Amino acid sequence: MSKEIPYKIYLEESELPKRWYNVRADMKNKPAPLLNPATLEPMTAQDLSPVFCDELAKQEVDDTTPYFDIPEPVLEFYKMYRPAPLVRAYCLEKKLGTPAKIYYKFEGNNTSGSHKLNSAIAQAYYAKEQGLTGLCTETGAGQWGTALAMACAYLDLDLRVYMVKCSYEQKPFRREVMRTYGASVTPSPSMSTEVGKRILAEHPGTSGSLGCAISEAVEDAVSHEGYRYVLGSVLSQVLVHQTIIGLETKAAMDKYDIKPDVIIGCAGGGSNLGGLVSPFVGEMLRGEADYRIIAVEPKSCPSLTRGTYAYDFCDTGKVCPLAKMYTLGCNFMPSANHAGGLRYHGMSSILSQLYDDGMIEARAVEQTSVFEAAEYFARCEGILPAPESSHAIRVAIDEALACKETGEEKTILFGLTGTGYFDMVAYQKFNDGEMGDYIPTDEEIQKSLSTLPEVP
Ligand SMILES: *Cc1c(COP(=O)(O)O)cnc(C)c1O
Repeated sequence: MSKEIPYKIYLEESELPKRWYNVRADMKNKPAPLLNPATLEPMTAQDLSPVFCDELAKQEVDDTTPYFDIPEPVLEFYKMYRPAPLVRAYCLEKKLGTPAKIYYKFEGNNTSGSHKLNSAIAQAYYAKEQGLTGLCTETGAGQWGTALAMACAYLDLDLRVYMVKCSYEQKPFRREVMRTYGASVTPSPSMSTEVGKRILAEHPGTSGSLGCAISEAVEDAVSHEGYRYVLGSVLSQVLVHQTIIGLETKAAMDKYDIKPDVIIGCAGGGSNLGGLVSPFVGEMLRGEADYRIIAVEPKSCPSLTRGTYAYDFCDTGKVCPLAKMYTLGCNFMPSANHAGGLRYHGMSSILSQLYDDGMIEARAVEQTSVFEAAEYFARCEGILPAPESSHAIRVAIDEALACKETGEEKTILFGLTGTGYFDMVAYQKFNDGEMGDYIPTDEEIQKSLSTLPEVP
């Protein structure tokens, strides 16, 4: 029979993945290409290179190469905080009284506190290789900015971060972590860019959005010699780098002959979920295995479950290429009381295509039920989860409780993307009973979708 399963499954250094997997190579229906917003022509790597690093632009448009070698310096950096443990949630199973076996892949074991470092170091490395001076980016909740600040400090690159104004004000400690690693942080919208000035003139007093911060960071990058723009989610290159999560998970599970029945991940822009599930989806696409995959999103920002599959702008300022994705419209803003992250209006084009093809399911959950799950998990498994990650915990618990009803001994795997130490204002609201659930109306979503660009 199978070997005794330890609480934590770690891989040996020699078992660590040395290549990222590009699931697009195995997809029959490829994700739709990025389009130039002016000409509506598909963008080539060359078209993207004024904005993105050359190597990353190549990865972005490559839907045929199945594996990319992870550069040696990136592998070395990974060794500082990887492998991430695959944990058997024995305590959670016991507390739930479920016959299900629950595993989670924990990506919060680094200072940035999330999986974002996996792509940050890759992107910073390619920038350094190209001889660039620095990078510009946006950050919402602050995890991406922190991860990139760590990577840029390590490689001695300059970094300018546009941080959504409400987070800048609500999460001063996130900001200080970034500054400690040498990044300069500007609240967005700002008066330092033309697009920021325009947005401020149109919406005085706005507390900002990711879409708006993206526009500012892109403008900053393209108007300064030696700088490029980098993004922490949504893009296919980011999803590819995040496959380190899934490859490690699969190697660890294979080592103990474990096969997950259900794989669950939270979905904001789709990078952690895409990274976790890619190797499993690859098996499905090649007809080698079958899994149930569930993307979990907030009810207040339901791009997969209530959005439309269409070409849309990636940013509010409409300076980025058009991407075909499940979207709520680039002007969509989740309600101000939404505290759980995952607030981007669109979804990775890879995940969008897989969802449209029926390869993955999606479920939307209310934020109070997410924080209930977070608290339940923290009290038995010890880790204080990020609100984003807690969306996956919610559905993993629901699936385990369903097994309790039916007596099925399913194996459930979920991605625990990070820790919630910087989210204590949200936890405080929850603890004080002041957290509400806001679900956008059909009219609100229709209104936002009415601004989709016309693409024949
Ligand atoms: C950014 C983030 C997410 C969501 O981003 P994806 O690209 O959808 O993975 C989820 N969890 C944590 C902890 C994050 O920092």
